Amino acid sequence: MSSTTTPQTPDNPLGVHALVWTGDWTPEGARLAARQSRAAGYDLVEISLHDMDVVDVRATRAALAEHGLDVACSRGLAFDADVSSDDPDTARRGEELLSRALHLAGDLGAGYFCGVLYSALGKYAGPPTARGREHAVRALRRLAAQAADRGITLGMEVVNRYESNLVNTARQALDLIDEVGADNVKVHLDTYHMNIEEQDFTRPVLDCGDRLGYVHVGDSHRGYLGSGTIDFQQFFHALGTIGYTGPITFESFSSAVVAPGLSNDLAVWRNLWSDGPDLAAHARSFMAGQLKAARAGLAG
Ligand code: MN
Repeated sequence: MSSTTTPQTPDNPLGVHALVWTGDWTPEGARLAARQSRAAGYDLVEISLHDMDVVDVRATRAALAEHGLDVACSRGLAFDADVSSDDPDTARRGEELLSRALHLAGDLGAGYFCGVLYSALGKYAGPPTARGREHAVRALRRLAAQAADRGITLGMEVVNRYESNLVNTARQALDLIDEVGADNVKVHLDTYHMNIEEQDFTRPVLDCGDRLGYVHVGDSHRGYLGSGTIDFQQFFHALGTIGYTGPITFESFSSAVVAPGLSNDLAVWRNLWSDGPDLAAHARSFMAGQLKAARAGLAG
């Protein structure tokens, strides 16, 4: 039982998505989210940059500092500003949006900028084209260089087929990252999406290995962890096997907390919970328990 015989798996930062607390990242929303994230025991809060105009950098940094929280940022693109578009002007608008969001993430002190950074967040009418994919690769190369200058890691979130046509599996994300060819571009896995598109919860994690950079944990209906059909034991064991030390962020959506635009993009139609503090405290305990069990299993 001594620490010398136990494999040293460092503690992962545990995060919570801001939409558990507030749909608007106004100064008031920032203070509420920071206070409640800390009260629920989290180390990190993830801010969606879908509405950059409301984000107050100074108020956000003050709220995060007051509660000793790290921050990660995320977003998806739009069909009229999409780096994977065939149309160069649409792709350029997507790149401008990404660049602006990256700089905001840096100003907020984020070490990670994640999400659907390679395409629009939504249901495409057809498969991606070679020309559009090339636009995305070139834009991501330039974004990765800007991110490296600010010490930021980019996470390519693998999402289901109804939210992008370009990257639906970990393997596709790894192929895209290989083409981009930058060390600070990593895979961002999300159990909710894996449940729809991957064969199981182990192989994609092992395939990523040290190229896994960020994780979202959500259940099959995006409600209380453990109340859906996802095999979290398999997933957390796989994280332990690769020695993943990066952030693990709880993501859950309910019509109880609505973000203008984003909630509709994510198809948040139902009320899966109404008590955010209870949901978040439960999720933190659930994730910490899974990590502890996975480590104990590796040590045995
Ligand atoms: Mn996610």
